Amino acid sequence: MSSFQSFSFAGKKALVRVDFNVPLNDQFQITDDTRMRATVKTINKILQDGGSVILMSHLGRPKEGPTDKYSLKHVVAHLAELLGGKDVQFANDCIGAEAIDKAAALQAGQVLLLENLRFYKEEEKGDAVFAEKLAQLGDVYVNDAFGTAHRAHASTAIIAQYFSKENRTFGYLMEAEVVSAEKVLHEAQKPFTAIIGGAKVSDKILIIENLLERATDIIIGGGMAYTFFKAQGGTIGTSICEDDRMPLALEILAKAKAKGVNIHLPVDNIITTDFSNDTERKNCESMSIPDGWMGLDIGEVSRAKFAEVILASKTILWNGPMGVFEMSNYQAGTKAIAVAVAEATQKGAFSLVGGGDSVSAVNQFGFNDKVSYVSTGGGALLEYFEGKILPGIAAIKGESA
Ligand code: AMP
Repeated sequence: MSSFQSFSFAGKKALVRVDFNVPLNDQFQITDDTRMRATVKTINKILQDGGSVILMSHLGRPKEGPTDKYSLKHVVAHLAELLGGKDVQFANDCIGAEAIDKAAALQAGQVLLLENLRFYKEEEKGDAVFAEKLAQLGDVYVNDAFGTAHRAHASTAIIAQYFSKENRTFGYLMEAEVVSAEKVLHEAQKPFTAIIGGAKVSDKILIIENLLERATDIIIGGGMAYTFFKAQGGTIGTSICEDDRMPLALEILAKAKAKGVNIHLPVDNIITTDFSNDTERKNCESMSIPDGWMGLDIGEVSRAKFAEVILASKTILWNGPMGVFEMSNYQAGTKAIAVAVAEATQKGAFSLVGGGDSVSAVNQFGFNDKVSYVSTGGGALLEYFEGKILPGIAAIKGESA
């Protein structure tokens, strides 16, 4: 598979799957354009080569076919702006006569955006006939939508079979995502620390199991830590807990011990009486949280201990916050991790941050350019680290998912 950089798009119509699934407010203004900005470099390279670009994406989860609320027409003006004031054409349907005519008339240097792919249920079903109709619009297929790479949808995976190996490729964004994930998954320099947080053990169990084969240290924080405390005989008050996952938590600890992987759980927590920013707070040891109190962040001693582990690392993967960082009084733990990851990166470690909430935390605290790579894929990155083959990646490479 040739690299995107070496691909020449001169005279070609490139059909590019992007992830323009951006959040919109009530006035249809984009509230976070990260995903759009991430793919501008890919679009510009094709245009500069002398090619034309046909963009396709989904937006939201429309249930009933075409709906104004989910129309990609709302992103046209902003896309034009991101492309330096370039005119962006729009087709009111992603297949059919209008799309075919506009794609056929497209000249070198021009950009066409197709309407929301998910206005057709065939998209998510991975329908081959629908995929073929899309494929007929372009000469070359480019997949730059890492956020949907874990889905075997028509436009993300099935479509690839209608292009020869020479005529399909990743875009810059997808390439960068794959390179950084591979660096952590298969070429990690040791010590390799994985920081896993978030609400539930059940969401992160597969990633932890896969990381037990690779990491030297695993830091477990956030709501999922309380299942581990209770499983070990601790009292956790009203903290979030998955009782049915307690045996699994003990199994993870036993497996880690057998493999020589260090598991670091918080030794203390910030506890409070309600799921609220305004109730009384105090620091408390992990195994003895009193009745009626819940842990919403890691404590001060844990922050220092975790930072020490992080600072000694050469490779760092971070997925999931250490506490309820959405509330200002429970941000300190997640922020301390962000500071430590940034410092370790500055000292030469490779750090990859991925998964929706840790990415928003890193952005919120202004650390996004202080880590090595911030992934645009939540579910996709998680599945990558669970050891699964992502259909969107396999389809470009010509492997079976
Ligand atoms: P996830 O999507 O699994 O990464 O989980 C992220 C969510 O976990 C965030 O919305 C956090 O507010 C939440 N979370 C983190 N720590 C806790 C905690 N101690 N109790 C309840 N929720 C938590």
